[in-house]
Amino acid sequence: MSSFVQAPPRLGNQYHDDRVLRGYLARTLPEEALAGAAPALERMGALAGGELYAQQLAERGLEPALEQWDAWGNRVDRIALTPLWRRAEELAAREGLVALAYEAPFGRHSRVLQFALAYLFTPSTDVYACPLAMTDGAARTLLASGNRALIERALPRLTSRDPARFWTSGQWMTEAIGGSDVGLAETVARSTPGEGWRLYGRKWFTSAITSQMALTLARPEGSAPGGKGLAMFYVETRDEHGRPNRLSIDRLKDKLGTRKLPTAELTLEGTPAVPVGELANGVRAISTVLNITRTWNAVAAIAYMRRGLALARAYAKARVAFGAPLAQQPLHADTLAGLQAEFEAAFHLAFFVVELLGRDECGEASEEQQALLRLLTPVAKLTTGRQCVAVVSEVLEAFGGAGYVEETGLPALLRDAQVFSIWEGTTNVLSLDALRAIGSRGLAPLTREAGFLLNGVREPELVALSARVQAALESAEAWWQKNAGRGQPALESGARRFALTLGRSTAAALLARQAQWSLDHEKDRRPLAAALRFAASGINLLADPDASLSRLLADDT
Ligand SMILES: Cc1cc2nc3c(=O)[nH]c(=O)nc-3n(C[C@H](O)[C@H](O)[C@H](O)COP(=O)(O)OP(=O)(O)OC[C@H]3O[C@@H](n4cnc5c(N)ncnc54)[C@H](O)[C@@H]3O)c2cc1C
Repeated sequence: MSSFVQAPPRLGNQYHDDRVLRGYLARTLPEEALAGAAPALERMGALAGGELYAQQLAERGLEPALEQWDAWGNRVDRIALTPLWRRAEELAAREGLVALAYEAPFGRHSRVLQFALAYLFTPSTDVYACPLAMTDGAARTLLASGNRALIERALPRLTSRDPARFWTSGQWMTEAIGGSDVGLAETVARSTPGEGWRLYGRKWFTSAITSQMALTLARPEGSAPGGKGLAMFYVETRDEHGRPNRLSIDRLKDKLGTRKLPTAELTLEGTPAVPVGELANGVRAISTVLNITRTWNAVAAIAYMRRGLALARAYAKARVAFGAPLAQQPLHADTLAGLQAEFEAAFHLAFFVVELLGRDECGEASEEQQALLRLLTPVAKLTTGRQCVAVVSEVLEAFGGAGYVEETGLPALLRDAQVFSIWEGTTNVLSLDALRAIGSRGLAPLTREAGFLLNGVREPELVALSARVQAALESAEAWWQKNAGRGQPALESGARRFALTLGRSTAAALLARQAQWSLDHEKDRRPLAAALRFAASGINLLADPDASLSRLLADDT
C-alpha cells in the first residue's frame, strides 16, 4: 500500500502574490492613492488566502435554507444563510466594498481601488459579490434618478460601512416569460388612493433574496406593452415588523452553482412600491443597475480565473508525476502559460472598464470615453465570462482526478464560473447590445483608443503585435460596415464573433501597453510573454462563414 499523501494546494496573501494586480495598480494609480489603499488591500489579501478560504472549504456542504412557516402556522419566509455569507456581509460593509465608490476618497481612482478589493474578496466569499454588485447598481441608479426621498431613505444604508446599518439590494427583472426579453414582463402595478402603488405578479429569479430592498419592473395598469410601458419601482422586502412585505418566497432555486446565494421565486401579492422616476421606460431606467452589475461580473470572472490559476500553480509545484513536479513538465507548464495569458488579458479588459466608469462618474469622461464605456461594458462582460468558463475548466483538468472531487472545492469553482456568461445578459444578448452601443457611430472611438494605447509601444515584438491588433479592429470595422448594409439578420448572426473580436483586440492592446510599462519600469518580461501568447491564441474571430450554411447546422434534425 502506498503511503503517499498529496499536499493540498495552499494560498498565500492574495494581494502580495498577485503580480498582475500589483503591476497594474503601480502603473495606474497615483502614489498617494496606492499608499492610502495598501493596508486595506493587504488585509483583504491575507483574509482571502487565509481565514476566508479555510472557512469556505470547511463550509463546503452548507447551503441557505428557506423556512416558509413557523411552528404556529404563520408564514415567515425566513432564510438561514451560511456563516461565511454572514461574515462576508459584515466584512464588505466594514471594508467599504460598495461605500468606497461613493465616498470617492481618490476621485476617479476610487473605482479602481474598490474593484481591486472586490477582486480579492470575491473568490473566497461564495458569490457574496452578487448582492454587492446589485447594491452598487441600486445606489448609482437611485442617485441618477434624482428621487430625493428615496435617495435620503436608502442611499445612506446602501453605502454604509456600519454592518448594522448596511443594506443590500436585489434586482427583480426576470419573470417566467423571460430574462433577456424583459419587455414581456407581466407584473402589474396598481395605484389606489390612500394606499399608493402595489405590485402583483411573479418574479422568477431573484438573487440575494435576504436583501432589504430591491429595484424591480412592473407595468402600471393601462400602460403600453413592451419595455417602454414598464416602470422601475423601489420595494422594501420586509414590513416594519420584519414580516415579508406582502410577498411570498415560493421556493429557492436548485442551481448548478452559486449555491450559497439564495435565489428565489417570488409572488408579489400587493407589495407596496414606490416609482423611482417616470411611470414608463423602466427597461431603460434599470440599465444603470445593469451597467454596474456587468462590471462587477467582469471583475468576478477575472477573480475566479486568478484563483483557479493560483491553486493550479501551487499544485503543479507539489504534485510529482513521471519523476518531476508537474511545474517542470514542459507540456503542463505550457498549458498553465496559456491560461495565464488569457487571465492577464481579461484582467486588463475588466479593469479598463472600471477606469472608464470611475472617470464617467467623476464627470471626467469625454464624449468619446462615454461611448467607449457604453460599448466596452457588455463587451468586457461577455468576453471575460466566456474566458472564465474555459480557463476554470482547464484548471480542473490541471488537477487530474482531484479536480473532479468535491472535497477539493474545485468543482464548485467551475459550477460558479458558468454563471458569469449567463446572468446579467448572456453572451448573445450582450453581443446584440454591443451592436446597439455602436449605433451609427461605428468603431471610431475604439480604434482611436487602441491607437492611443499602442502609441507608446516600442519593443519590436509588441510593435508587431500592435499591427495585428489594428488589423483585427480594421477587419471588425469592415465587417460591421458590410453587414450593416445587408440588414439586421446578417449583422446579428455574426454579432458574437464580432463582439469577441472587439473584446480580444482591446484586451491585447491593453496588455501590450502594460507589457511595455513593465519592461520599462520593472524589467519584467512576463506581461510581454502574456501579450504574445494571448495574441497567438487568436484575437480576430471574424472568419465569416456563410450565414445561410450555418443555419443548416442550427436546426440539425
Ligand atoms: C443563478 C442565477 C441568478 C439569477 N438572478 C437573477 C436576479 O437576481 N434577478 C433577475 O432579474 N434575474 C436573475 N437571473 C436571471 C438571468 O438574468 C436570466 O436567466 C438571463 O439574463 C437569461 O435570460 P433567460 O433566462 O430569459 O434566457 P433566454 O433569453 O431564454 O436565453 C436562452 C438562449 O437564447 C439566447 N438568446 C436570447 N435572445 C436572443 C437573441 N435575440 N438572439 C440570439 N440569441 C438569443 C441566449 O443567449 C441563450 O443562449 C438569474 C439567473 C441565474 C442563473
